[in-house]
Amino acid sequence: VWVQASDWLRDRVGSNNHTAWIAPLDLGGIEADEAAIAAPTRFISDWVQRHYADAIRDALVHAGAPVTRLSFRVATAPRATAPRKRSDAARPTPVEPEMSAPLDARFTFDNFVVGKPNELAHAAARRVAEGGAVTFNPLFLYGGVGLGKTHLMHAIASEVRARRPESRVLYLSAEQFMYRFVQALRERTVMDFKEMFRTVEVLMVDDVQFIAGKESTQEEFFHTFNALVDQGKQIVISADRAPGEIKDLEDRIKSRLQCGLVVDLHPTDYELRLGILQSKTDSLRGQYAGLCVEPGVLEFLAHRITSNVRVLEGALQRLFAFASLVGRKIDMDLTQDCLVDTLRSSDRKVSIEDIQRRVAEHYNIRLSDLVGQKRVRTIARPRQVAMYLAKQMTTRSLPEIGRRFGGRDHTTIMHGVRKIEELCAEDHSLAEDVQLLRRALEA
Ligand code: ADP
Ligand code: MG
Repeated sequence: VWVQASDWLRDRVGSNNHTAWIAPLDLGGIEADEAAIAAPTRFISDWVQRHYADAIRDALVHAGAPVTRLSFRVATAPRATAPRKRSDAARPTPVEPEMSAPLDARFTFDNFVVGKPNELAHAAARRVAEGGAVTFNPLFLYGGVGLGKTHLMHAIASEVRARRPESRVLYLSAEQFMYRFVQALRERTVMDFKEMFRTVEVLMVDDVQFIAGKESTQEEFFHTFNALVDQGKQIVISADRAPGEIKDLEDRIKSRLQCGLVVDLHPTDYELRLGILQSKTDSLRGQYAGLCVEPGVLEFLAHRITSNVRVLEGALQRLFAFASLVGRKIDMDLTQDCLVDTLRSSDRKVSIEDIQRRVAEHYNIRLSDLVGQKRVRTIARPRQVAMYLAKQMTTRSLPEIGRRFGGRDHTTIMHGVRKIEELCAEDHSLAEDVQLLRRALEA
């Protein structure tokens, strides 16, 4: 029952969450309508209860066990009682602070494909993982959804644990940080909480934008942060945007975050997407022995699915699963059949109107000016940005984009697109603008 329920949950919660939270669980038993769930640590148990209780109940019902209630307990020696379930059981297990969130074993440096858009972030992450005298503290990684922030953080954590098993590495999301803090307040164990953090060698907090606006958590975070930095401990933070752009984050925190190294993960380019697809294909081929991918398919995917790496990966996985199920080879036909929805949604993701509206808002100009004929720089540049985004983010042809921009010729659009491409390479603030807009539109 549990195997079936667990499989069903993978679809429901996504495979990352599944690896992190569901895989470590075990079904202790079912009595009447109550299922006993065993978790390896209290943290996992709490987190799962809060986030996945309904899903687990549904999954059990789906697997044929009519349960209505769940009880949770912490299994005292998880690795001893259930070693068969843990894929990483064979590896040595360095000190893993009980508060640390589980790491995804696939998120390693080896599995991280490096390209222009992420090479700086990757190099910085490597450097931090290697430790040594010259490192950046804090390291602040930021970038849009699915560009590899969490992957890099897990990679740092695994690497540090492997190199220096005695040092304590604590990785958790800002949401988990807050959750633990609130829990400590409630249970009057704030001293332990503080102690816990202050004795780590490396603290990594993922998605720190989450604590924006949450005052007491910010306060605690700030103190923890300062205490660790003062002791020369390494801190790694990630967020979906630059420190300065996080609203409702206190200035003193912003400036502290900025005083280390701030690097961003740029949106992927075609080359990187293709590289990632190739690397994932290699590992999927191992799982689906005998399946191969016909030429052109990966190129097609890299060209069409530009939003984020997670979607790209998901599409490839679906292709393999689908192909092995129906016994077909992975060619363009199968790709079209299997990914209609993914491809369609990447088509209708944003409209040219959305783009124009956003861009006009961003630069504080009138929409009618944006598509109008004025040639002053303050209007012409935003217009080109909008053209560029329309070309990049929609599948509309140049003539069609031209029509929506006040009946311009397709060569004008092409010129605009090229101009922005060129400018972005040298003008950092323009590149940032474009990225911001793109992210806002993708959200
Ligand atoms: P983020 O935390 O920035 O939202 P993740 O780190 O969760 O993104 O990445 C989403 C997915 O994409 C993960 O499965 C990750 O392994 C994969 N991924 C992202 N960038 C790369 C890369 N450069 N090479 C290989 N896989 C990547
Ligand atoms: Mg993440």
